[in-house]
Amino acid sequence: MLGGPDENLPTKLARYFGLCLLGAIVLLVTGFPAGMFQTNCYILAQDDASECVVVDPGQDAADPLVDFLTRSSLTPTAVLLTHGHLDHTWSVEPVCSKYGIPAYIAPEDRYMLADPIKGTGPTLAAVLGDLEFHEPDEVIELAHEQRLSLAGIDFTVVHTPGHTQGSVVFLAEADGPDGNVPLALTGDTLFAGSIGRTDLPGGDHDQLLRSIASRLLPLRDETVVLPGHGGQSSIGQERGSNPFLVGLGDPEQGKL
Ligand SMILES: [Zn+2]
Repeated sequence: MLGGPDENLPTKLARYFGLCLLGAIVLLVTGFPAGMFQTNCYILAQDDASECVVVDPGQDAADPLVDFLTRSSLTPTAVLLTHGHLDHTWSVEPVCSKYGIPAYIAPEDRYMLADPIKGTGPTLAAVLGDLEFHEPDEVIELAHEQRLSLAGIDFTVVHTPGHTQGSVVFLAEADGPDGNVPLALTGDTLFAGSIGRTDLPGGDHDQLLRSIASRLLPLRDETVVLPGHGGQSSIGQERGSNPFLVGLGDPEQGKL
C-alpha cells in the first residue's frame, strides 16, 4: 500500500516492533515498519540458524536491516517480495547486492522493479525525483503453489492477484509447543481489519476478494497473518471480523 508521508522519518531501530517469537522459538519472525510508507519488512530465521530470509525491504529498510542482521549474526539467503510496489521493493537491489542473493517476485510484477512509476502511477514521480531503480542481479520468478526451501524454512507460494496482478502470499510454518504454527505473509492483499487498495495499475477489487476467499480464508483459523502494513492478525480473526470479507465464506465467491 502506498500511503501518505509519515512525519516520523527517519525510521529508527526503536521502531522494531519486537522480536515476535512464535511457539517454541523455533522460528524467529521479526519485522519493522520502514520508510514514509511504513511498510513491514520481515526477517525469518530458524532458531539458532545463521541464515535468514528477508521479506519486502522497503524505503529506508537497508540500514536498519543490515544493522539487525549483523547484531544477530544472520546472513540472508534470499529476498522474497509479496508484490512489486515500490514501498515493498525500494531496498531490494542494495540488499541483494550487498549479500549476493536473489530476489523472488511473481512475473506479473517484475517490471515494477526497474520501472516503479509504471506500477503505481505518476503521482509517485514527484516523490522519486531523479532516483533510478534497477533489478537485482538475480531475479527468480515465482509460480502459484511453488515450494521454496530457504534458510531451512519451507515456504509455499500462493498467487493472490487483485491488489496487483503479481501479488503473492508466502505460507510457512513455525514449530510451536502445541504443534505447528502456520504463518501467512500477506503483503498488501490482507491486513488486520482491511484489504489492499485496488485503484493502482493492475488493481481489481473483485479479483482481490476472490483471491482472499479462495486462497486465504480456507487456511486454518490459527494461521498468523503478517501483513505488509500494520499489526499482525490471524485468519480466524479476519474471517470473523474483517468488514471487507463479510459473506466471502460462500465457496461460490471463491472462484478465481
Ligand atoms: Zn502495494
